[in-house]
Amino acid sequence: MDQSYILNHLGEERDQYFGAIAPPVIQSSNFALTSIAHLREAMLAEFDHHLYTRGNNPTVAILRKKIAALEGTEDALITSSGAAAIATAVLGLVQLGDHVVCVQNPYSWTRHLLDQFLPRFGVSATFVDGTDLAVIENAILPNTRVLFLESPNTMTFGLQDLAACAALAKEHQLITCIDNSCSSPLFQKPAAFGIDLVMHSATKYLNGHSDVVAGVICGSRQLIQQIFDRAYMVLGPIISPSDAALIIRGLRTLPLRMERSQQSAAILAERLSLHPAVQQVIHPWRNDFPQSELAKKQMTGTGGLFSILLHTTDPKAIFRFVESLHVFLLAVSWGGHESLIFPVAAVHQLPGKDDPPFPVNLVRLYIGLEDPEFLWADLEQGLSRIQTA
Ligand SMILES: *Cc1c(COP(=O)(O)O)cnc(C)c1O
Repeated sequence: MDQSYILNHLGEERDQYFGAIAPPVIQSSNFALTSIAHLREAMLAEFDHHLYTRGNNPTVAILRKKIAALEGTEDALITSSGAAAIATAVLGLVQLGDHVVCVQNPYSWTRHLLDQFLPRFGVSATFVDGTDLAVIENAILPNTRVLFLESPNTMTFGLQDLAACAALAKEHQLITCIDNSCSSPLFQKPAAFGIDLVMHSATKYLNGHSDVVAGVICGSRQLIQQIFDRAYMVLGPIISPSDAALIIRGLRTLPLRMERSQQSAAILAERLSLHPAVQQVIHPWRNDFPQSELAKKQMTGTGGLFSILLHTTDPKAIFRFVESLHVFLLAVSWGGHESLIFPVAAVHQLPGKDDPPFPVNLVRLYIGLEDPEFLWADLEQGLSRIQTA
């Protein structure tokens, strides 16, 4: 289906709401049924009927259709956060005694779900180097149910070969899940490689304006219905209709935003690679990225995220650089209109927390929609502070 049609029209049944161009925010918790027969029908299949907004809501349903079509899957669920999407999907798949194989260094709360939360309910996990198929296969146990991928990850951009992982999982009858937030559905469509469930933090590119926290789960109707019945209706991780409307609005410009972010990121990555304070640029599209060939095989673009390794490992010098920036904002997250910077050194040696598994001189940049020349001027003046004690 044409992508521009999906983003601008699919699911919008304007004749049902006075021809309104902007979809209405149906801010209603529940819905009146026309007959007992209709009520009984809705109770049996909340997934498809408007009975109660924890299960289904007309504004959210528009977003479900668009997201499923973007990922090329039969259906989708929208959740209150990306973390909720991941937890809800996994909780809908596993039961007591099951085992999950997950790539190493996934998003921190995915790791927390698998190595802290699920063990309390008798579900265990093994984390493996996702670049090596043999290592993944060796980790599969008789009770393994799920293979969880995140490709690329959002700090060092490590990839997994999606087609090979999907084939391996089929052989062992595992359900494959992927966190596809980094690429957005525009630049990578995991279902086309045979991946069963695709998750996103919609907080990032899909909404794109840093004003909504949300997530999505995409997959076959059968798997989405299973997750709906076993986890979604129990846990209740729903999005409000007004937030769904904001995401629908954000989607209108998704290709324009991604294209701009990606172009500016490529320009800045190149300039940073030539800067004397920078040891290395980590960007999956660049030729010196170890998996760039795989990236170009299974993705059609990369977006606005990349990382640099600075020559200095002195946190004071790194913080002088980061704190002297005027345009780049010091923040977690990414995918909005604004450029952001996140130095790993900031979260080293936090009391009571493990150090993140990334080098202390790694700094992640997210390139937003500002003029790249303006951003470069900011980075250049910031980097000049590294040397001056
Ligand atoms: C942000 C993020 C999440 C979590 O999403 P929230 O919307 O913040 O809950 C999950 N995975 C990745 C890769 C992310 O960047």
